[in-house]
Amino acid sequence: MKLKVCGMKYADNIEAIASLQPDYLGFIFYDKSARFIDTEIPNLSKAIKKVGVFVNASEDTVIKTVLKNNLQAVQLHGAESVAYCETLKTQLPDIEIIKVFSIKDEFNFNVLTPFESVCDYFLFDTKGKLPGGNGYTFNWNILEQYASTKPYFLSGGIGSAETENLIHFFESEASKYCFAIDVNSKFEIQPGLKDVKQVKQFKEQLFSKHAKKQHTMSYNVNENGYYGEFGGAYIPEMLYPNVEELRQNYLKIMAEPSFKEEFDQLLKDYVGRPSPLYFAKRLSEKYNTKIYLKREDLNHTGAHKINNTIGQILMAKRLGKKRIIAETGAGQHGVATATVCALMGLECIVYMGEIDIARQAPNVARMKMLGATVVPALSGSRTLKDATNEAIRDWINNPVDTHYIIGSVVGPHPYPDMVARFQSVVSQEIEWQLQEKEGRTKPDHVIACVGGGSNAAGAFYQYLDETDVNLIAVEAAGLGVDSGESAATSALGKEGIIHGSKTLLMQTDDGQITEPYSISAGLDYPGVGPMHAHLFASGRGEFISITDDEAMKAGMELCKLEGIIPAIESSHALAVFKTRTFKPEDVVVLSLSGRGDKDLQNYIDYFKI
Ligand SMILES: *Cc1c(COP(=O)(O)O)cnc(C)c1O
Repeated sequence: MKLKVCGMKYADNIEAIASLQPDYLGFIFYDKSARFIDTEIPNLSKAIKKVGVFVNASEDTVIKTVLKNNLQAVQLHGAESVAYCETLKTQLPDIEIIKVFSIKDEFNFNVLTPFESVCDYFLFDTKGKLPGGNGYTFNWNILEQYASTKPYFLSGGIGSAETENLIHFFESEASKYCFAIDVNSKFEIQPGLKDVKQVKQFKEQLFSKHAKKQHTMSYNVNENGYYGEFGGAYIPEMLYPNVEELRQNYLKIMAEPSFKEEFDQLLKDYVGRPSPLYFAKRLSEKYNTKIYLKREDLNHTGAHKINNTIGQILMAKRLGKKRIIAETGAGQHGVATATVCALMGLECIVYMGEIDIARQAPNVARMKMLGATVVPALSGSRTLKDATNEAIRDWINNPVDTHYIIGSVVGPHPYPDMVARFQSVVSQEIEWQLQEKEGRTKPDHVIACVGGGSNAAGAFYQYLDETDVNLIAVEAAGLGVDSGESAATSALGKEGIIHGSKTLLMQTDDGQITEPYSISAGLDYPGVGPMHAHLFASGRGEFISITDDEAMKAGMELCKLEGIIPAIESSHALAVFKTRTFKPEDVVVLSLSGRGDKDLQNYIDYFKI
């Protein structure tokens, strides 16, 4: 969480407040204000951004003032239009633009939408007689309806008396995109003269307790669809209308009460949620730590994938789509998609590599029984990558009536974020289930296997910015990381672009995508989603590679110790207990992403059962 102190006027006072190292200092260039700055701004540390505050000034005045005073940001408090912001953005490309909206008892958040692309932050203050400085807070609960992902400044009458309320607010979902706290009149001796001691105390109280919150959003997606340097939407122009339609609507639709209601109802009655959080007693004894299994294997269709396909089919319906396409490798995502299409009575076309169709006959049969058309991809290596290319081609040709259901946290923005949000039900449940069982919402470690990364994204989601929760991502090392036959993307990958997103990717020196290999079809992907690339590159996540052998043995061990036959993907996560130790008092939650029925033949062949 950042701090902005606004309405600075006097040189000595500016220097004294600057010594407290706020992130932003605001200067009001509006001559009707009691805090109008009519002196020169003293030289300040580069770490503090100087914000010029304007009310309906001409674009020209703003530009001149920015250049003259060497400002790093402008805050627009009047009725400045989208076009106005756009002009400033073009003329002053390095300047942060903060657009202010005043809230009384209600607010129509739809008015923000056209400003999304032309400003960097929103600022919410209390509607009063004058622009700013009215000394009253508004009801922050309104921000529960905030449907954007653009970070915002919270402003309007915040004083020391609000410290406790702010701490509560920070713990609520409504504060998720709160980027900074903006203070002004409540810390003044007279207009423009700040009480240094009081600001210091406020900063210490609020920001030492919530020092961690300074990382808010840094591990989640930003408003441009990036996780750190990864993500974005690298797509051919012809795909742009489809992706853009989704980007503009997904958050709005997901925030609609009727959407939430239908999604929750289906997860409960159709999927069978909440999935249990099961304390694995014998496994825990064996590895001398407390292990909980999040039982996604008990979902309808046998894995976590259905959480996402339910969400996306509801999204497609809201967007008025009649036809669903999907890609599939081993057929798991194809089956989950065919399932929800049958449920909703929508046409379903699944692209699948010709080689995979031959290898995965039971899943092909399932899809057909569920009413889907399975179309073989005949180009390239005739596997997942080629099926994906065919699906993209179909979407380009059918931009109006078709929705493409992507099966993991991969693809162009907004897919990774949308899929992560649908899967986040997993960690939302873990929080309250752990509270019931352990008296706390946070485990010490969360372990999940990563193919594209959707079950991991779901299990990590609520903990991304809780840096005291260790996130362990498990990749498939196949026959060994150095064998040339693996899918250990973080260990071997370099930055590149696959399926519309910039991420870590296994490739040759000249940028050809390397064929991945893993015994588990679900982990057999040459990239990871951008969220995980960022977790790896930033050091936030711990990445472990597990070989076929290690995974198969760990899977068999779970059968014998707990009476649960896991999917081979999930067995990779289970194998972590052999390669890494945990403390006896540690609470470890493992995402058991799927059940092993689909892998029976693999287990039979491997163990010669
Ligand atoms: C598809 C699949 C995976 C891998 O996909 P993610 O998007 O990385 O979760 C893992 N486990 C099971 C059971 C799967 O079916």
